[in-house]
Amino acid sequence: MRTAILDEPGRFKFTESSLPGAPGPGEVLARVLTIGICGTDLHAFEGTQPFFTYPRVLGHELAVEVVASGEGVTEFEPGNRCAVNPYVTCGVCAACSRGRTNCCAKMSVIGVHTDGGMCDQIVLAAKQLYKCRTLAPAQIPLVETLGVGIHAVGRAAARAGDRAIVVGAGPIGLSVIEFLKLAGADIGVVEKMPERLDFAARHHNLQRYYPSHEEARQEEPSMLVFDCTGDKPSMEGSLQLLQQGGTLIFVGLINNTISLFDPDLHRREATILASRNSTPAEHHRVLDYMESGRIDVSAWPTECAAPAAMGARFPRWLHREAGIVKAIIDWSAA
Ligand SMILES: [Zn+2]
Ligand SMILES: [Zn+2]
Repeated sequence: MRTAILDEPGRFKFTESSLPGAPGPGEVLARVLTIGICGTDLHAFEGTQPFFTYPRVLGHELAVEVVASGEGVTEFEPGNRCAVNPYVTCGVCAACSRGRTNCCAKMSVIGVHTDGGMCDQIVLAAKQLYKCRTLAPAQIPLVETLGVGIHAVGRAAARAGDRAIVVGAGPIGLSVIEFLKLAGADIGVVEKMPERLDFAARHHNLQRYYPSHEEARQEEPSMLVFDCTGDKPSMEGSLQLLQQGGTLIFVGLINNTISLFDPDLHRREATILASRNSTPAEHHRVLDYMESGRIDVSAWPTECAAPAAMGARFPRWLHREAGIVKAIIDWSAA
């Protein structure tokens, strides 16, 4: 089978090897259909992903089709299309035992810490798969992306009428907007890329949209501020958009120190939350929303590329090429 190995930053190597063997007890052998590309993949390609080791087979946002089930796996039939939960968690640490598996102390992410789905077939633990009924293969990898959004909005406990603002309108910012909308929040957006700002504002019919923090500061502050940028100046500046008594949620992350002027924090009695990954229960809810049509992300500016194009396209996606919010690899393409 064909496998794409990220051999070192900036270089994919394609290899031919034998197919994985039969699935063991509790496992499923699956064919890879599509792979979503996110910031983690792009930073691994760039060589700036913390704690990342090479060579590595990327691919953690996956759509797969079941080929065979191992002993004890009864819930899947060959041909079933599935989303994949890439977070392998220990189940026993302090976080896991409180149901907060998204921040498991021993978290291992398929396609980040272990080899992922950039290959024709993969063996996965059956418990990591979610059966999809109606979603197209190009939509399925977005279950993971949207999971980050549903978790962040849950952390913020957003309610109808809450004044909220989302900083950064990439895939994570758009995911947060989807769930704020379901919660009935009053949503604003800050995004410096004109195409992304325009898409978020038009697609969601938002009346509050700004190209910078400075412009957003002209309006009344928000009770909920979601920073989805992973950008130091943005994360530091987002506190200025927060209302007295409000909550600032860092959804995007950065491998750096961020500083906040304490009087700005104290004057507001601000609550600051980090939001990381998502849980299986949230993945199931996302899948229900997508399959019932209550969330439809098919209009997102997406590029679907063949594996052979990755070497050329990754640098462009990394530098946020205008007009593309999300990249998907169609693994079945030549
Ligand atoms: Zn991802
Ligand atoms: Zn754990």
